[in-house]
Amino acid sequence: MYEFAVTPAVTQMRRPGVTIDSVVPGSIADEIGLESGDRITKVNGRTVRDYLDFRFQTSGEVEMIFLVKKSDGETWEVDLERDEGEDLGIEFEQIIPRQCANECIFCFCKGNPDDARPSLFVRDEDIRLSFLYGNYTTLSSVTADEMNRIIEQRLSPQYVSVHATDLKTRAYLLGVEEEKADISDKLERLLENDIEIHAQVVLCPEINDGKVLEKTLRDLAAHYPKVVSTAVVPVALTRYNKDERLTKVTPEFCRKTIEKIGELQEEFRKTLGTTFAFLGDEIYVKAGAEIPTRDHYGEYPQIEDGVGMIRTFEREFGEFLEEISSGDEKPTGEKKDLRTHDLALKPVSDEDVPVVQSLNGTVFTGEMFAPYLRKQVERLNALVGSELSVVAVPNTYFGGDVSVAGLLSGQDFLAVRDKVEGDFAVIPPAVIKSDEPILIDGMGFDRLKAEFPVPVYASDLMELVRAHIGS
Ligand code: SF4
Repeated sequence: MYEFAVTPAVTQMRRPGVTIDSVVPGSIADEIGLESGDRITKVNGRTVRDYLDFRFQTSGEVEMIFLVKKSDGETWEVDLERDEGEDLGIEFEQIIPRQCANECIFCFCKGNPDDARPSLFVRDEDIRLSFLYGNYTTLSSVTADEMNRIIEQRLSPQYVSVHATDLKTRAYLLGVEEEKADISDKLERLLENDIEIHAQVVLCPEINDGKVLEKTLRDLAAHYPKVVSTAVVPVALTRYNKDERLTKVTPEFCRKTIEKIGELQEEFRKTLGTTFAFLGDEIYVKAGAEIPTRDHYGEYPQIEDGVGMIRTFEREFGEFLEEISSGDEKPTGEKKDLRTHDLALKPVSDEDVPVVQSLNGTVFTGEMFAPYLRKQVERLNALVGSELSVVAVPNTYFGGDVSVAGLLSGQDFLAVRDKVEGDFAVIPPAVIKSDEPILIDGMGFDRLKAEFPVPVYASDLMELVRAHIGS
């Protein structure tokens, strides 16, 4: 999920135009004198509200007129020409998210410790972020203008939190009036206009499970292939969620859900040719059940929602081991597309892949993923003679059901630093904020490193091994 910088969201007034963050030296933008801090307010006479408008209005254009508000207050009208497809060389500010007007009973904001990063308290509900990053919206707060924009600019697919097609249940979960919760007209309009939808159900025992869930999945599947897929992910309660309406997800509940939804999945595969309704990895882990096969997930349409990540990781790690054993490992710097955001295996940046002297170290990860990672690391050790060990880190910061790697805090890592074996420690890159070297509890990565007995790297394990082999 896209996590934005909170400062502009709470401090900037909405101003017309889109601000340039940086300009590539020698690019067209540089040649015509555009600079960081300038705001492009119009392209060819049409108003620009944000980066997406800019992209939409410049797409396919080779001759353009920009109206630019310079950072010194001057207004410029700039004519420019480019070759077809030539990049203008402009990086823009982050999109400032629109916020939701719901009061979901399971809202993640209510499960945060008070000192969590401010960005974790921002309730975004933004069709632009949905299109760009796969963030879910409920569509309830989406305005008529935004609906028009989705259709006009083809902001497809959209990721929609449906939760339940039974209106009473949906309204209850969202904490709003039924009239507001009802998105049937909006959904219909999107589908009529060929906007693809990926739906989500946050599964809350005793609220939207059982018959309500079955109805929801059948109602959504009736719109396949325009509703492409549905993710069913369990509600995650931290120790700060005190709402008595919520019931904990138990292993028994997960087992029953797998059994019940398994029958539906089978039916969908026969009638639609796809599993269509995908259960989040956590449901299988908690139930102690086998993770489904690769075929089950098809194109992994909901991987960004934690659906199919373990299977993806196992496949990629298996391929990686095959590369190594065939002596065909990818050289340092040549990366594969590792879509593993929760498993947190991407390096913070290319330069951050460390070259370690030996493969004798400790890999920290969340409790949920640890057994799967350990199994693969044991295979790696057997293959290359490395001495890597995997340590599952309990999440005491959020507590409750939270066991994913990406939500581990600095305090959590410090609590297990005495479990380090070997010469270094590796933590999941996703625990570091993308635009700032801090962890979820605000602890600086430098401080964490300073308090460890060995060097700590926020790095992808496969890349680290590659870098070592290639060194
Ligand atoms: S839609 Fe619900 S869960 Fe999402 S931010 Fe708003 S209140 Fe929270």
